[in-house]
Amino acid sequence: MGAEQVRDGFVELYGARPDGVWAAPGRVNLIGEHTDYNDGFVMPFALPHTAVAAVSRRTDGVLRLHSADLDTGVAELRLDELAPESDKAWTAYPAGVVWALREAGHPVTGADVHLSSTVPSGAGLSSSAAIEVVVALALNDLFALGLQGWQLARLCQRAENVYVGAPTGIMDQTASACCEDGHALFLDTRDLSQKQIPLDLAAEGLRLLVVDTRVTHAHSGGEYGKRRAGCEKGAALLGVDALRDIAYADLDAALDRLGDDEEIRRLVRHVVTEDQRVEQVVALLESGGDTRAVGPVLTAGHASLRDDFRVSCPELDLVVDTALAHGALGARMTGGGFGGSAIVLAEATDVEALTKAVGEAFAAAGHTSPRVFEAVPSAGARRLV
Ligand code: ADP
Ligand code: MG
Repeated sequence: MGAEQVRDGFVELYGARPDGVWAAPGRVNLIGEHTDYNDGFVMPFALPHTAVAAVSRRTDGVLRLHSADLDTGVAELRLDELAPESDKAWTAYPAGVVWALREAGHPVTGADVHLSSTVPSGAGLSSSAAIEVVVALALNDLFALGLQGWQLARLCQRAENVYVGAPTGIMDQTASACCEDGHALFLDTRDLSQKQIPLDLAAEGLRLLVVDTRVTHAHSGGEYGKRRAGCEKGAALLGVDALRDIAYADLDAALDRLGDDEEIRRLVRHVVTEDQRVEQVVALLESGGDTRAVGPVLTAGHASLRDDFRVSCPELDLVVDTALAHGALGARMTGGGFGGSAIVLAEATDVEALTKAVGEAFAAAGHTSPRVFEAVPSAGARRLV
């Protein structure tokens, strides 16, 4: 939905024009998976799909929330009653942002919000971060809070971790808040230092496809928690703050020190090699050479997530295997895993045949037909009106 439609929806709902309209995108992660809670590197870029919110300031301690995409009506909340994990509905995301801002001492006194999003929900493309960031940016402007993108991202992460009660790293919110059009974001999740890396696939005759498998396996939340705890245990056994502190050159020595704890060894190996893969992709893209060389690094990342970190699933493996068998330059699952989406780097001329092959493979396996779209690195959060 565009800015005008969302603004009109706001007027219809609340009987006045909004103070402004803002947008924040979903994201796809090019490389760097399950590294963001290990203080490591990630490299997402923003999708053209956005959450768009029309928002007005209030001064009476009331927060009204409405999503055009759901038929749950307007939720009316009192700011002084906001409490972590008290809300199991979608409203927990925007309410959590207001709660986190107020907790941090920012003078937010209420708002009317009407939003709509084109980011597919639950597909591993961060529809939740898009909603958090669009609301945070609107409130930042309306209450003149003067916060920068990375600061808004931190507050949104806190909203999701503490208020919603979902453990997530910092990547999604930072990507939505800080990405730039035509660039991927090389982000160090330890200190949030970042670098915009130009990524113009079309200029090289390439395409990056997102294949949404449309499955989410039910145990994904618990498995995420287990991996996270395993990584923390690995870091503790190795005597470092986070697995990020194990240099790639020291990986073999670190694995030796872990002895025969095979599960922890696998987790450590994934995280350390994945950080290395992010640095490899950055070096390849910055060298100005052929972007096709990124393909095998993506595919190696998938193998590591599948075999070492064990967060893939049959549907994601089927996308990757089928794409590679039909000429893809590289492919991997993206996002947390156990469903969600995969990305495929391919020659533009191979896209049609490849998409068809993936669809046929899914049909033959009896899976729901996947949703395939092209991902073009797009702008991060911004004010529209
Ligand atoms: P992801 O972020 O990968 O899409 P999450 O489970 O983290 O998946 O977030 C999805 C949740 O975000 C939905 O269950 C819903 O609560 C909220 N959400 C996403 N899109 C919308 C929308 N358009 N309107 C209202 N809530 C939404
Ligand atoms: Mg999410």
